[in-house]
Amino acid sequence: MIFKRWTLDGGLDLDGHKDLSRQRPIISTAIPDELVYPLVFRSGEVARALVKTGDRVLKGQVIAETVGTQGVLLHAASSGYIQENELRAIAHPSGLKSLCLIIATDGLEEACPVDEPVHYTQLLPIEIRAKIHQAGIVGLGGAGFPTAVKIRPESSCAVDTLVINGAECEPYITCDDRLMQQYPEQILLGIQVLLRALTIKKCVIGIEEDMPEAIDSMQKEIERQGFDHIQVNVVPALYPAGGERQLIYLLTGRETPNNSYPVDVGVICQNIGTVMAVYQAIFKGQALIERVVTLTGLGLKTPQNMWVRIGTPIKDLVRQCGGYNGSIERLIMGGLMMGFVLPDDSVGITKATNCILVATPREVAKTRETEMLPCIRCGECATVCPVNLLPQQIYWYSQGGDHDKSQSFGLFDCIECGCCDVVCPSHIPLVQYFRASKSKAILKRRDDGAAALAKQRFENQQLRKAQEKMEREQRFRLKKLALVKLKKEGAGSTPNAADKS
Ligand code: SF4
Ligand code: SF4
Repeated sequence: MIFKRWTLDGGLDLDGHKDLSRQRPIISTAIPDELVYPLVFRSGEVARALVKTGDRVLKGQVIAETVGTQGVLLHAASSGYIQENELRAIAHPSGLKSLCLIIATDGLEEACPVDEPVHYTQLLPIEIRAKIHQAGIVGLGGAGFPTAVKIRPESSCAVDTLVINGAECEPYITCDDRLMQQYPEQILLGIQVLLRALTIKKCVIGIEEDMPEAIDSMQKEIERQGFDHIQVNVVPALYPAGGERQLIYLLTGRETPNNSYPVDVGVICQNIGTVMAVYQAIFKGQALIERVVTLTGLGLKTPQNMWVRIGTPIKDLVRQCGGYNGSIERLIMGGLMMGFVLPDDSVGITKATNCILVATPREVAKTRETEMLPCIRCGECATVCPVNLLPQQIYWYSQGGDHDKSQSFGLFDCIECGCCDVVCPSHIPLVQYFRASKSKAILKRRDDGAAALAKQRFENQQLRKAQEKMEREQRFRLKKLALVKLKKEGAGSTPNAADKS
């Protein structure tokens, strides 16, 4: 059954520009000459290379692992030889260069042997999670959070619903739409695997109403398989209906409170691309070495959805889209609203890359830097905010450097959707202020944390010294008492003069 319910507060009805790529089947891509893997991720996590210069690596071989508790594995997307690590431009909003691990491919696609796949119904939830971890799967919707961590028991003990995010609300992006049109059976199998790992039964797939082919494809497959525990729910084509918290509310009516996570309201949310990666890991034994990316924008001769090896430089993909088309204003990774501008097209595709937008001046005219005027307190930004914040207040305190106050107005609840930016008549780049304010607040928290830690260490040291002094004095007192006692005993046992005679 398909039905609609719940509505979104705020949001924008944007021109989707989806027709550029929606009707084009996903194509395979050629092996690039080199694959580029940054050793620093967008989240700031650092990866440790497990191979060295000159090593030959096979397709699917683990080549790096993030340092830290989550330990996400990175696999070679093709066979070849490890080159000297180099500083390269990476997929990061800062535009800074970072150390990258580089594979010069040999064109042989020689792969690591894979274990004979075991049917998922024969696997325990813990075994499924282990396989998802071994496959290096992270959320492919953009956040890149490790999937095995998201579905571990301590985070999912009270979960009763798996929400699948098929609401591709950002303009231009159609990779999940195409996956649902072309791979409904595999997506349903991936969902079955996740339900087994979570030991729950209920799943709701949220798809935007302007994706009729995807809705039809998923619905038909659910009916063909006779699954009544998986539902397709149509959500309004309103940006940002595909935001995790917004979608959960639209599908279940459950609001995720501030400072909490979807798991706290009994929901785990996964993106369509992630579900596909889970299918490939469990049924094919394939690590996350490729994903579907939308290459789009009027700046490309032939926009496409493509199966892309992780690490492929963007310039290789542009070539396979027929090259650039006229004047290019910006190269954006991610969507027009939440994406970020890339320094050049040598940057490699990461696991979190869902779209490369090659934008012409016309496409970014509205977002181009225009002269900023003072805030006129019109309140338009608050009207469109899907999180019910008061962006003008956050902006006021952010620009004044009062990050504590901007936090009290919900700075960290801002999902950086950019709706307020779009409607602001004063052209204030609100999200830029919010991002900067968040970074400063995080740094301050770190500094405060470091200062508190240093203070704690000093106090502990003082306490330890005082204790040692007390113990020393106590030992001294006891020793003194013992000596006095010994002396007394010695005096008592000395033979007296009468005895001597
Ligand atoms: S960017 Fe933040 S403040 Fe602006 S509309 Fe989106 S959630 Fe609200
Ligand atoms: S939309 Fe712009 S001008 Fe209007 S209140 Fe918000 S920040 Fe101020």
